Amino acid sequence: MSETFKAILVSRDTEKKQSVTVTDLTDADLMEGDVTVAVEATTVNYKDGLAITGKAPVIRRWPLVPGIDFAGTVISSSHPDWRAGDKVILNGWGVGETHFGAYAGRARVKGDWLVPLPDGISPHDAMAVGTAGYTAMLCVMALERHGILPDRGPVVVTGAAGGVGSVAVSILSSLGYHVIASTGRNAESPYLINLGAAEVISRDELAQPAKPLAKERWAGGVDAVGSHTLANVLSMTSYGGAVAACGLAGGMDLPTSVAPFILRGVSLLGIDSVMAPKAVRLEAWRRIGTELDLQKLASLSRTIGFDGIIDAARDIVDGKIRGRVVVDM
Ligand code: NDP
Repeated sequence: MSETFKAILVSRDTEKKQSVTVTDLTDADLMEGDVTVAVEATTVNYKDGLAITGKAPVIRRWPLVPGIDFAGTVISSSHPDWRAGDKVILNGWGVGETHFGAYAGRARVKGDWLVPLPDGISPHDAMAVGTAGYTAMLCVMALERHGILPDRGPVVVTGAAGGVGSVAVSILSSLGYHVIASTGRNAESPYLINLGAAEVISRDELAQPAKPLAKERWAGGVDAVGSHTLANVLSMTSYGGAVAACGLAGGMDLPTSVAPFILRGVSLLGIDSVMAPKAVRLEAWRRIGTELDLQKLASLSRTIGFDGIIDAARDIVDGKIRGRVVVDM
């Protein structure tokens, strides 16, 4: 009999009511792919929370094993780039949305979707970074490409105590930026200062409908929140600045005007991690491997087991998770 492994399965009944169960699967249950990986660590991202709670239509194939990212070891491969024993990371590509994902002992995926685990970091560390942290790095790289370097002035990070935010604060401060962290959880100020924030502001300052232009406060930003928050961040960005927008934790709308763009030359940089080309992923993970402070990474993450995934998924959509949650399988 083939080996079984535990998996979380999200199903839908004929009335489209969603349910979540823990079940046993075998290799024969996995979807098509040329590489089978033993999942050693995964994580709970905001998108995983939306998928498991059904709060947004993340899952588009039923039933599905959720989980958008994992790190682990190749068990078998018919892909030329990978051999049994290789350590790999997967982020996105529709895994956990349309393809069986990370919340199972094994995953079978396309070899083209995988990147090598950088030297010096463990599968656990890679998932402390996870898709949230890799996206934070994509945001930082976009700001740099636009010339927003530390000497241009402060940068703001919204949703700072969340996953993307915490890693963004950590990376930006390590690179020498003056980081202004915006959070709705004032009690997390010491945590954010410990990660390297130079200032902590209340999310309330950015929550009201934005004026077309407001006092210039920062040269750039990383926004994980969207809606009025992003509109305010844009209206407060100084001449020629840029904001990397990656998230919608506060809403998917963007009630802004063209004023920041046409009167201050501000740029809005869209960030997508799911379909990002392989070369960009390799560069992001190379930089994570060499530039991210592992002590800070440990301080912004906590570890749970497979049995804690469903509760953590509910907590993240309620804004109750600080930093990152790593799942050791
Ligand atoms: P988290 O839940 O860990 O962080 C989101 C943070 O946003 C919260 O911690 C909170 O920060 C803040 N927040 C939550 N609700 C509100 C609200 N109503 N108004 C204002 N602020 C709010 O999620 P992640 O960091 O994992 O993801 C952040 C966002 O980025 C999500 O929307 C996610 O879908 C998106 N994302 C996008 C990716 C892409 O490819 N573009 C990839 C990864 C994530 P605080 O308590 O500090 O205020």
